[in-house]
Amino acid sequence: MPIDPTQPYDDANIFAKILRGEIPANRVYEDEWTLAFHDIAPQAPVHILVVPKGNYVSWDDFSAKASDAEIAGFARAIGHVAREAGLVEAGYRVLYNIGRNGGQEVPHLHAHIFGGRPLGRMVG
Ligand code: 5GP
Repeated sequence: MPIDPTQPYDDANIFAKILRGEIPANRVYEDEWTLAFHDIAPQAPVHILVVPKGNYVSWDDFSAKASDAEIAGFARAIGHVAREAGLVEAGYRVLYNIGRNGGQEVPHLHAHIFGGRPLGRMVG
């Protein structure tokens, strides 16, 4: 069920629980700002979720409220995870589902990294 992107942050969401270590995840990377783990229902041979550790529902509040260090750390983590997953040479996709029209289901900002097969061209 897509979320309302303007809702206040709900720290009972599933990624908040993963960040707090309350439920397990297959973690691939962690640093001061960011955690990355495999999607539980992969849509491609590689399907990794990258989440900022701060409490942000959507790209809208992340871009408005996160510090420059958090934003830079998150961007660098996505590049690092894609590199470590061996996706750079063949290419990959980074996708954000944001809010109702974007089909976002988990109300904690996350980037999907897809790779490991030809993904086709997608523009909207
Ligand atoms: P969204 O539609 O919000 O962009 O994507 C949410 C993603 O989170 C989905 O691809 C879904 O498979 C994944 N997901 C949902 N619950 C869990 C979970 O408990 N663990 C992991 N690793 N992924 C989850």
